[in-house]
Amino acid sequence: MRQSAIYLDHNASAPLLPEARAAMVAALDLSGNPSSVHGHGRALRNLIETARGQVAKLSGAERGQVVFTGSATEAITQAIVGGAKAFKVDGIVVSAGEHMAVLKAAEATGLPVAKAGLDEDGLIRIEEIGAALAKADAAEQRLLVCVHLVNNETGVMQPVERIEVLVGPTPHHLFVDAVQGFGKLGLKFASRAPDMMAISAHKIGGPAGVGALLVKGHADQARLIPGGGQEQGRRGGTESAPAIAGFGAAAEAFASRFYEANVSALIRVAEDGMRAVAPDLVVFGEKADRIGNASNFAVPGLKNSVAMMGLDLLGLSVSSGSACSSGKVGPSHVLAAMGVKPELAECAMRLSLGWSSTTDDVEAFLKGFGEVVGRHRSRHGRAA
Ligand code: PLP
Repeated sequence: MRQSAIYLDHNASAPLLPEARAAMVAALDLSGNPSSVHGHGRALRNLIETARGQVAKLSGAERGQVVFTGSATEAITQAIVGGAKAFKVDGIVVSAGEHMAVLKAAEATGLPVAKAGLDEDGLIRIEEIGAALAKADAAEQRLLVCVHLVNNETGVMQPVERIEVLVGPTPHHLFVDAVQGFGKLGLKFASRAPDMMAISAHKIGGPAGVGALLVKGHADQARLIPGGGQEQGRRGGTESAPAIAGFGAAAEAFASRFYEANVSALIRVAEDGMRAVAPDLVVFGEKADRIGNASNFAVPGLKNSVAMMGLDLLGLSVSSGSACSSGKVGPSHVLAAMGVKPELAECAMRLSLGWSSTTDDVEAFLKGFGEVVGRHRSRHGRAA
């Protein structure tokens, strides 16, 4: 099916890069199992190892530190559930702004989970992580700290370097969900403190259904699926060579494509344009450092369910930033943690741009936004 709508939802999933598509199509023509020692198997193995090098390069990891998984959610679960068991930790610390993949994995460990809050700008309250570590130290306990690099809803960049300083020199462990920063920020996994990081292909123009766990040698016992010993026993199951090849090709092409799209300038144009139409516009996390490709905003009184339907009818795909898998718009736990009142959170929408975004997309969005806001204001007896 051809999709003609304008796509403004890269944080949910970026469109497939042509480079990734070409690599996948070429791989689909190959038969065999990458674990087989014959020529067919070796050809697929070569694709996987090339991709491992490409993903390692973009994440600043050593090749041997990259474990391919079926998604970032799987990598996160392996890091948290597998890591908690391997490190024999006594508890987990998360932030209240984590993706559900992290929150649910923490819950699945069955261990006590401490939650550090977010401040009103969407930044993790580091002092609360410090307090949890101090309490654990006093009780001679060991914790697994799980934080994200960039928030998927607000685009706020978290002070992970400061968290590394807190956790790095201690016996506690650190996992970073780097999904929304991978390819956009320079990751230097090998030389930095986290024991493990999770990344995903489909946020950088690769296919959905493949991700990776970056893992240091000492943390390498965090295994969930031993299976047939693939990925050096770190993730069983026959690898999807086409998906992994697509991931690798996306990792190679993404950073320059993303940079060329100049998305932070486009987001500024979008936010200025929205403010010109709706001076009461609220941009969540505006005072914090944001990654620049996303804007989470609300027009007070204009519910996101209504606005998104109006924009969708005009062929503009934006998100509420917190859609659950059923497709329904649920209340955002991230905005709630930032202290945003429920009636304003109900109006929150997310615009997220990426490698394929253009000035025309933003102009079309602003035109649609103007229509939707104008219609809302005339219905509610206020001038647009
Ligand atoms: N973590 C963050 C911050 C995300 O934004 C997402 C995807 O929305 C995930 C984890 C899960 O990634 P995947 O879809 O590859 O499982």
